[in-house]
Amino acid sequence: MAKKSPITSEVEQWLKLNHKLHTHKEMAANIGCCIETVRRALVRLELEVVHGAKYQRRAVPKSWSRPCIICGCSKSRPRMQFKCNACHDRERDADKHMPSKRNVTITLPRIDVCLDKKEKATATSENLQLG
Ligand SMILES: [Zn+2]
Repeated sequence: MAKKSPITSEVEQWLKLNHKLHTHKEMAANIGCCIETVRRALVRLELEVVHGAKYQRRAVPKSWSRPCIICGCSKSRPRMQFKCNACHDRERDADKHMPSKRNVTITLPRIDVCLDKKEKATATSENLQLG
């Protein structure tokens, strides 16, 4: 015969009606099971909050594993966060360091070559080439 849980539907009903009238120990004695079984049943039935990690039902964190819109990383992260934490931080840092996107134009000094100054200009460029 398969081992049956002592918490039958009748016991559940009884717990619902009597859990405030008895201690866990008394209820366990009444049902004929151990205290832990009673506590688990109470937590499961949401009749009582029993402090202690082993009695808690695993809280489901609101998260998803949708691929990051930037790098495609599908590590789970809070729901409605489309970017992974790494990309999120990277973007935030980028915003901090570069408040505006600007095109940096490097203006090189121009040598205007006129007929008059051609020789001089040539000399200058030769000098530059020679270092
Ligand atoms: Zn990413």
